[in-house]
Amino acid sequence: MKTKLYIVVPCYNEEAVLPVTSSQFLETLNGMIQKGKISEESRILYVDDGSKDGTWSLISGCAKKDGHVLGIRLSRNRGHQNALLAGLMEAKGRADITITIDCDGQDDMRVMEEMVDAYHEGCEIVYGVRRDRSKDSFLKRTSAQGFYKLMNAMGAETVYNHADYRLLSARVIRELEQFKETNLFLRGMIPMVGFKSTAVYYERHERIAGKTKYSLRKMFGLAFDGITSFSIQPLRMIMGAGCLVAMLSFIGVIWAFATEMMGKTVAGWASMTCIICFVGGVQLICLGVMGEYIGKIYLEVKGRPRYIVGERTENSDNKEE
Ligand code: UDP
Ligand code: MG
Repeated sequence: MKTKLYIVVPCYNEEAVLPVTSSQFLETLNGMIQKGKISEESRILYVDDGSKDGTWSLISGCAKKDGHVLGIRLSRNRGHQNALLAGLMEAKGRADITITIDCDGQDDMRVMEEMVDAYHEGCEIVYGVRRDRSKDSFLKRTSAQGFYKLMNAMGAETVYNHADYRLLSARVIRELEQFKETNLFLRGMIPMVGFKSTAVYYERHERIAGKTKYSLRKMFGLAFDGITSFSIQPLRMIMGAGCLVAMLSFIGVIWAFATEMMGKTVAGWASMTCIICFVGGVQLICLGVMGEYIGKIYLEVKGRPRYIVGERTENSDNKEE
């Protein structure tokens, strides 16, 4: 039996690019079907992440025109990571493999075939890795590179220059379902699932149209989530910083005591203020970092659903068995 592929495409306010990329996705899918690499029952599954523009009507239009296209619509905007998970869970039990890809045409669709080949050679996960970042703006490039370096330094294993363009086998998705966390960071979670993996390389293009939906704020949010969801290194660093500060203040105490004994008490208002401010600052930072982890615990303990599917295209058989 031939491999059934689901291409999962998250979309948020993408009416500017969808008309162009939707036909490219179909072309790519049909190309692979014709070559016999995947089954005729393969599908493109769009996940509308609570868009406020005409994205959903474009998706349902595509689904009416071509039976290879399915769509689900989340009840509101839940962010890229949750939208991806919603798509993967929708494909679970139906697809043998899934490929997640952004809908803006930045990721080279032609390497999907290589991904499928790698799966047939026995890999369960195939990471799409971009070759270089020369086309990105300076800010995006440096912040992204800094992010990967920081992540690895903090002990969260991620694949360098890999975003969320990847192939997962049905088995990986079944295992991924066991990861119950609310703070999603798939780039860190997938390597934790394990199994045999490989990478394919591609050039990343510029966005076909529309603006990036990842504002600087969302990007920092993702980076922060990535680090604090996968590493307790910051807490350890606080411990280290605390020890260092304690040592320094101990030296300070000895110094103060010695000068006092020698009868040379300084009118050190400035030094006192500096020390108080410094220690106060360090304490606030430490509290902030701890607060972040406690906040995470709070969110996880509530165990709220990570997304809610509001609607499905008509051809998508309802999964609520
Ligand atoms: N996206 C989403 N929900 C969001 C933000 C983005 O589903 O809240 C989708 C978006 O439509 C796109 C993908 O995630 O398909 C990546 O977003 P974008 O291209 O804006 O990010 P960039 O490539 O600039 O990092
Ligand atoms: Mg993009």
